[in-house]
Amino acid sequence: MSGHTDMVLVDDDGIRIDGRKADEHRRVHIEAGVLNNADGSAYVEMGKNKVLAAVYGPRECHPRHLQDPTKAIIQCKYNMEAFSVSDRKRPGPDRRSVEISKITAEALEKVVLTELYPRASIDVYIEILQANAGTRCAGLTAASVALADAGIPMRDIIPAIAAGKADGHVLLDLNKEEDNYGQADVPLAIIPSTDEIVLLQMDGDMTREEFDHAVDLAFGACHELYDIQKEALKKRYSAVKGGDEDE
Ligand code: ADP
Repeated sequence: MSGHTDMVLVDDDGIRIDGRKADEHRRVHIEAGVLNNADGSAYVEMGKNKVLAAVYGPRECHPRHLQDPTKAIIQCKYNMEAFSVSDRKRPGPDRRSVEISKITAEALEKVVLTELYPRASIDVYIEILQANAGTRCAGLTAASVALADAGIPMRDIIPAIAAGKADGHVLLDLNKEEDNYGQADVPLAIIPSTDEIVLLQMDGDMTREEFDHAVDLAFGACHELYDIQKEALKKRYSAVKGGDEDE
């Protein structure tokens, strides 16, 4: 987020470098139940982002000192593969992935009925196969579909998307160039049935009015993503019922 480039990110007609208008998100594709050996899984593409989420549990929590006698804990591991970015990323956890794992688990705790499974752990693995900005949102979107695919009782599923500012324009769903050279990035995740916010971060600078506009754009897009998440789960459910897929 340098805030400056000679590249024109938004042209005079308001069109972005990937052909989108300010309020358009990238193409979203979601598939539920893509892995045989996890309890639940999902694959998400948001533009050039490619993300896999896998869920195990509820199962007995190890190490035992992490157990909570009143509810299950959600342990999330967000991992960016070495080959997911243009320069090979150093493998393994770093401060950024620890932070994203934590905020993702905290968002998911707001919807999973953890009180049904005392002392248990629900483990969520998010693998970023290809990154192009917005991976924490794509990861959370995938993780909530994977939890639902695992049959874990939830109040709702969570869609997430970012909005931000680049070239002085408030834009929905920043791509990598807009994120790198833009002025602000605001990832948002909500519980669609109540419009409660479960994740909201901000990197960079914008005015109060620009921030409100960015949040409005992201809210609208979250509701569109929610429909795509539900469609993916319905498709998975009918495939399992019809015996076309592994259960
Ligand atoms: P998000 O992916 O949620 O937008 P960031 O704003 O931290 O999170 O990162 C923006 C983008 O920058 C990532 O999607 C990725 O394309 C790139 N990026 C992040 N970390 C690295 C890294 N260690 N090496 C190379 N590129 C990275």
